Amino acid sequence: MSRVNLVGLLPSELEDLAVELGALRYRGRQLATWIYRKSVFDLEAMTDLPKEFRKHLAERAVVEVPEPERLMPSQDGSRKLVFVLAGGSRISSVLMPDDERMTLCVSTQVGCGFACGFCLTGVMGLERNLTAGEIVGQILAANRLLEQGQRATHLVFMGMGEPLANYAALVKALRILTDAKLGLGYSPRRITVSTVGLVPGIDKLGREELKVNLAVSLHATTDEVRSRLMPVNRSFDLAALLAAVKRYPLAPRQRVFFEYVMLEDVNDTLDDAHRLARLLRGIKAKVNLIPFNDWEGARFRRPPLARILAFQSVLLDAGITTTVRWSKGEDIGAACGQLQETSMAPSLT
Ligand code: SAH
Repeated sequence: MSRVNLVGLLPSELEDLAVELGALRYRGRQLATWIYRKSVFDLEAMTDLPKEFRKHLAERAVVEVPEPERLMPSQDGSRKLVFVLAGGSRISSVLMPDDERMTLCVSTQVGCGFACGFCLTGVMGLERNLTAGEIVGQILAANRLLEQGQRATHLVFMGMGEPLANYAALVKALRILTDAKLGLGYSPRRITVSTVGLVPGIDKLGREELKVNLAVSLHATTDEVRSRLMPVNRSFDLAALLAAVKRYPLAPRQRVFFEYVMLEDVNDTLDDAHRLARLLRGIKAKVNLIPFNDWEGARFRRPPLARILAFQSVLLDAGITTTVRWSKGEDIGAACGQLQETSMAPSLT
């Protein structure tokens, strides 16, 4: 029988496991504290647990946090972490320092099944979902890399994969990450889940009352263009998507983020900007314009800077907070839409 990984179990599941092993429930809470709050992953080091319990535990369970196979530093200060998972697949996370912030971009799937035309991850297709342990593991591993006392301050689910297509594992990971007593204690306001626009998933996430930020990859202002760029639009069109966004519960000063990748002569005209402003009317929105990041074989180009700034001006004039997000880590293949890791071992030559 393969041993269960304690990383990725909810504190309540750790309690259940303790009882199953003949110990008291609070032993499970101690386990959660060691793993999630103190980042101690060695059962031997969990000195307040009885020896006997630790022995039973070691027979049934492991504490497994992925070790980055490679750490790729970018010239802009960001770092890509490449992990090899059980079964040999590779995924990546990206650490991005910015003033006081240290944002970690987290993956939720190996590859992605949504095939957006401008995204390199989409070219891979979907290999498999990550487990809750593999999702939480990325955060624990990244935090371990940082200097003593430091950790990622903000988490964005914008790495490989579609978070809402791996719903159960995503929500379980979010519960562990936001549990203030026995989990990692992240404020939900510092966590952002980005979606390609899965309407049922957005509704479900809203009902979880997790209060995390929602980001929507919009990328077009007409169904015609959006369906061409993003096949998912044929299942959930702009009207359905924006209706779901309007239903998503927000705290008083919270807003929904809209990502809009700027593609030259595809979605970057002033007409698009005006249409976008109209579409977002009545929504507490913040727009992030992402200049297209190039990859080999891509059929798109980044618009000239002046075009991007003119687009931004239209939105600003309409009263919509709009920033241009210059992706980090472009030189190391870590920028938005560039994440693709091969499953093959790196060649030795
Ligand atoms: N599947 C989720 C999470 C991925 S987030 C989603 O679609 O939201 C990654 C963001 O980068 C998405 O907004 C995606 O559309 C965008 N992106 C993809 N390819 C890109 C590229 N080549 N240049 C810039 N942004 C890109």
